[in-house]
Amino acid sequence: MSVTENLKTIKNLLPENVTLVAVSKTQSNEKIMEAYQCGQRVFGENYVQELVDKANVLPKDIEWHFIGHLQSNKVKYIAPFIALIHGVDSFKLLKEINKQAQKNNRTINCLLQIHIAKEETKFGLDENELFEILNSDELKNLSNINICGLMGMASNTDNIHEVKEEFIYLNQLFQKLKNKYTANNINVTTLSMGMSNDFQIAIECGSNMVRIGSSIFGARIYSN
Ligand SMILES: *Cc1c(COP(=O)(O)O)cnc(C)c1O
Repeated sequence: MSVTENLKTIKNLLPENVTLVAVSKTQSNEKIMEAYQCGQRVFGENYVQELVDKANVLPKDIEWHFIGHLQSNKVKYIAPFIALIHGVDSFKLLKEINKQAQKNNRTINCLLQIHIAKEETKFGLDENELFEILNSDELKNLSNINICGLMGMASNTDNIHEVKEEFIYLNQLFQKLKNKYTANNINVTTLSMGMSNDFQIAIECGSNMVRIGSSIFGARIYSN
């Protein structure tokens, strides 16, 4: 199946309120442009250098999302143009994003990543760490970031019940914030959960942003 056909199939499965992030990591600019020609404008990347290289040559109206694990010392490379950073998992990183956003005279949208999977290897905050950040006085001074929601990755398992439980938990946390936490730099609207294998479950559980890669572009080929 072509990128065009895959994209059509997936879009037909998405309710209108759900934003599709086309995850293009390791995929060629040709494939990205095929999706672009179909009207797709939101793309997600995991690696800073790859993202910067692509953003330099691809159309300027693409909205780039960073969805990988971001190291503080690399924020400066994406700060001039990034539309949304999904994987914010520490206060240190948040402060660095704010600093680089300030340098670029802009506000950067961020999602706080919550650890919902059973796997230890996945990144993210637990509930206590989340509220520590949201309740901290220092956060009020970060005027160049906007915390606009939460992101999570479910366990990589065929056990649908387990995946569902994890998504339901993340949605409950999201609903809690949505009703309670607002500030000049906290404006909770976005729940980023669901990938190729589990996005339909995620949507059932309240997701309004899905990150889909291989079901659009085909399997990823990693080379060194
Ligand atoms: C790679 C990646 C995706 C896309 O995964 P697919 O299974 O190819 O859809 C989504 N989210 C994150 C955080 C990723 O790293």
